[in-house]
Amino acid sequence: MALTVCERTNEMTAKLIDGKAFAFTVREKVAAHVSRIKEEAGVVPGLAVVLVGEDPASQVYVRSKGKQTVEVGMASFEHKLAADTSEAVLLALIASLNADSAVHGILVQLPLPEHLDSGLVINSIDPAKDVDGFHISNVGLLATGQKSMVPCTPLGCLMLLRDHHGSLAGMNAVVIGRSNIVGKPMAQLLLGDSCTVTIAHSRTKDLPGVVRQADIVVAAVGRPEMVTGDWIKPGATVIDVGINRVEGESGKTLLVGDVDFASASAVAGAITPVPGGVGPMTIACLLANTLTACCRALDLPEPEGLTA
Ligand code: NAD
Repeated sequence: MALTVCERTNEMTAKLIDGKAFAFTVREKVAAHVSRIKEEAGVVPGLAVVLVGEDPASQVYVRSKGKQTVEVGMASFEHKLAADTSEAVLLALIASLNADSAVHGILVQLPLPEHLDSGLVINSIDPAKDVDGFHISNVGLLATGQKSMVPCTPLGCLMLLRDHHGSLAGMNAVVIGRSNIVGKPMAQLLLGDSCTVTIAHSRTKDLPGVVRQADIVVAAVGRPEMVTGDWIKPGATVIDVGINRVEGESGKTLLVGDVDFASASAVAGAITPVPGGVGPMTIACLLANTLTACCRALDLPEPEGLTA
């Protein structure tokens, strides 16, 4: 009964998981480690970002990545190519970045223009420099519980969950969404931390009933406010990966997640907001992965708490 009253009044009882603040601490740790590597090994960790075409959202992401890379003391190499760049030219650029010892991480901004084969392009990156963790070798290493480069968004979610719970062992986790970028690697990471994992998707029967079993819900669907408070087990932790642009009452564009924050935060034990939850963790984890790649290349100890 108390739950129903809470839901009706949309009174927030959940702890807010502040991804923006946590991402700041990740960047601080990365920056401290970068300055130590510069002093002790005389090396500047470097991240190369390749953007093909002029997709406005991709341009914003690439700018933001470049700015944050420089802010933590790393070298940023931006390669902007025309939308009609041939596959051969792009592959030649990636080959030169693979061979460049000043480049420790390579990211090819997705989506690529349609005439380019994304799989072929991503798999041409040296897996040791694949800071997005999308290379088939890294996917296989993660799936078999071996040391790999881990996709940034799920890594960010894992860091937030570990920070909130400590151990995740034995918890029931439901990941909604089975994409290669978020859903599947997220499920692998939760399995690696000994959760009992369910991957739900567009064909799942009784999705609300499945989600109601979860101690941890990770929503990565791309449907605005689909997960409502009555799907959430009281006290569960809710990680909202969704970033959806919707028109607000005033006609202004608003960002909302895949979770209906008002109703879910009245039932959950802890919840990430949108914006300010998972979003800021993604670039922070990209920087962490670049640092990890640099440490591995130099055979230095890896930074603690910044990898899976
Ligand atoms: P995607 O479109 O590749 O995958 C969506 C998944 O949701 C699919 O597996 C599909 O089966 C599932 N799905 C679709 N409709 C469903 C339904 N009605 N019920 C249950 N499952 C359903 O998307 P993605 O790349 O995984 O991204 C998901 C969301 O996360 C998007 O909103 C995206 O913008 C956001 N995202 C955020 C970040 C970040 O940095 N925070 C990074 C990547 C993606």
